[in-house]
Amino acid sequence: MEMSSEEEPMASPPPPAAATATTSSCGACKCSAAEDDKTKKRRKKCELVSYDELPDWLKDNEFIHGYYRCEWPLKETILSVFSVHNETLNVWSHLVGFLLFLCLTIFTAMVIPRGGSTSTSTTTSNKIINSRNNATTRDYYWGDLMVMANMTGVLRHEALAACLLLHPADLSQHEQIPTSCPTNTSSTSSLSHHQQHQHHAIQLQDAGVVASAAVADPITRWPMFAYLGGAMACLLTSSACHLLLCHSERAAYVTLRLDYAGIAALIVTSFLPLVHYSFLCDHWLRRLYTGSIAAFGAAAVSASLVPAFQAPELRPLRAALFSGMAASGVVPVAHKLALYGGTVREAAVSACYEALMGALYGLGVAVYAARVPERWFPGRFDLVGHSHQLFHLLVVAGAYAHYLGALEYLKWRDAVKC
Ligand SMILES: [Zn+2]
Repeated sequence: MEMSSEEEPMASPPPPAAATATTSSCGACKCSAAEDDKTKKRRKKCELVSYDELPDWLKDNEFIHGYYRCEWPLKETILSVFSVHNETLNVWSHLVGFLLFLCLTIFTAMVIPRGGSTSTSTTTSNKIINSRNNATTRDYYWGDLMVMANMTGVLRHEALAACLLLHPADLSQHEQIPTSCPTNTSSTSSLSHHQQHQHHAIQLQDAGVVASAAVADPITRWPMFAYLGGAMACLLTSSACHLLLCHSERAAYVTLRLDYAGIAALIVTSFLPLVHYSFLCDHWLRRLYTGSIAAFGAAAVSASLVPAFQAPELRPLRAALFSGMAASGVVPVAHKLALYGGTVREAAVSACYEALMGALYGLGVAVYAARVPERWFPGRFDLVGHSHQLFHLLVVAGAYAHYLGALEYLKWRDAVKC
């Protein structure tokens, strides 16, 4: 999306409501006083109004002067997703973000390979294979991602069986090996001829067990999918809130709380890949951090149920509450770096993505709370470029940075477990 701070509004600001509203407190849907019952049943003509014409419950940002919808009928409110008003880009920025994360979820489920057998492997051969996997899996694992993209789940399983049954010498290049294969056969090139045969014999003997372990017992993906679900929930509820809020005071009450719950869901689920994979080997730490952020999220949602929480003057408090939740992620990130920062590359790289996410979210919250640039040029950014649109873009960018960080955790824990 291209947003220019110099862009002129697409239409002149709407005139003050002159007609008398029959049912609306803002006069947005103007019905002639002389209209008969038949006319009243016809679809009302909804118009955009100025800030001064809004009822108090719709007044939020006095620096955005025009192009407001106000108490439109539900059908017109929903259809306004395709029309131009001061919420259009707020709706679409997070709707497109939702679709992006939906695609990432499908990509993660279909393409990103599920790792090999776990540390609880029961056979000696698995332990041998795992020890070599741990050193080399990362070398080919992600390079084959796009190859995996062209394989269906069935083909992947067939390829898995093939890689276990073929002799290493028959595989000229490791790219032929499906990434879901539990053994890195190419690594056997460094073994002696005798060792290769021994290795191959073990593979044949335990092929069924290994295949079963790799397919049925991979490193768990639920923290990753929980995060993707939280991100989608946040983006979708936000988009719905911006679209429907203007319909009525009741709709505003409900959708704003859904919006806050979505934000809390995004923040809480953002902790899950970080905590689960960083502290995979310490159940106590996992429970401590997960419980803490869950309690924080529940408190934030509970606080947001208080009607007074919506007051415009409490905007800084709202920003502080949710940004404080997100900022508490510094603790587990620092803990992870203290434990693994110097020895595990993925731990350091994921921390970089988390720092990038924090910077993007922090900038977004600052823009949201300061209401710039519209504060500097009131009325100039009503349609394009106001602070909330910038905030939305920064949220999507931050959430995507966190997804990239979560991929680092999968790369790490698929190769090295407890
Ligand atoms: Zn928003």
